[in-house]
Amino acid sequence: MAILSAPFAGRPPCINRGFCNQGCLPNAKFSTLIQHIPEALRYGAEILSDSMVTRILVGKDGCVEGVEFVHDGKTYEQKAKLVIVSTFVIETPRLLLNSACGKYPDGLANSSGLVGKYIMPHSGHDVYAKFDQEIRLYKGTPVMAVSQDFYETDPKRGFARGYSLNAHGSRPVEMAADAAAKAGIWGKELRDIMLEYNYYARITVVGEVLPDINNCVTLSDEKDEYGLPRALVSFSYGDNDRRLIAHGIAKCNEILNAAGGTPAFVVPDTAHLLGGCRMGKDPNTSVVNEFCRSHDIPNLFICDASVFVTSGGANPTETIMAIASRTADYIISHRDELFSRDKLMLKAVHH
Ligand code: SF4
Repeated sequence: MAILSAPFAGRPPCINRGFCNQGCLPNAKFSTLIQHIPEALRYGAEILSDSMVTRILVGKDGCVEGVEFVHDGKTYEQKAKLVIVSTFVIETPRLLLNSACGKYPDGLANSSGLVGKYIMPHSGHDVYAKFDQEIRLYKGTPVMAVSQDFYETDPKRGFARGYSLNAHGSRPVEMAADAAAKAGIWGKELRDIMLEYNYYARITVVGEVLPDINNCVTLSDEKDEYGLPRALVSFSYGDNDRRLIAHGIAKCNEILNAAGGTPAFVVPDTAHLLGGCRMGKDPNTSVVNEFCRSHDIPNLFICDASVFVTSGGANPTETIMAIASRTADYIISHRDELFSRDKLMLKAVHH
């Protein structure tokens, strides 16, 4: 969970009061904002906050040469020797597609036609049960225990892959809002549930959703305030996903029952978007290589959850960070090539 159990790097340990999703006041919980950004600033990084990148700029040689961005209503250009796009599963493909130009009419890094394709959430169904004794779901960190007993493919179950199960806290407002908006529970029934909030427990499924090329980000006809096409997201579960979800919900109810609870309701949720710029060795079937370097444009890197090829059945943050760390090591060890335009051009010709 990347939450400290002991003091580390000037940050205190967790005090276990919960409400982590609303922001961790003591800073015991990791976030890029409290750990990496201050460190980057100490090493001389400059952050241009409140700036919207509207386009990645491409030179005559086909390499990228910076970005165009809007800050406070004014448009600027930032020159760069290399560009790393880290704007997540929706905005990364959107920016690459919106950066289409004469040299790359279908968008940047898109010779495979796969920019924006194969996006995946996790199925994240919340299964609630009511107990005779107080549970007090607001206490402690949101996820307290994880089981991966059901993670691997089991041919007997009739679907590929599997899921993790999280013993999952729930804060009152979140529980009421999810029950109403996602489970359709309203009025007296919702009021009765919330009056007995302290007696409910929940287990959440983190289910692997299989990649499907029809699940994708494309550009919408609608424009945003910068005049740029918005992202249009298309997604639906496949048969395998539905069978996996049904199995996961039944397993949660079985566990809650065995623990003495009475199954109450299910919130059909999702979590963790992944995919859209898949990683791979073959430029025909992927967007970036194993170091997040675009197959098409040698000084363009895509480094975020969009490079995932499958979703797995577990929370992805640590994997995203590991990939980022490997990408950083690669950039450092290849800096002579990456920061020299002549050498980059040779590589572009070679491709
Ligand atoms: S319970 Fe959550 S919010 Fe509170 S200190 Fe621990 S990590 Fe931070």
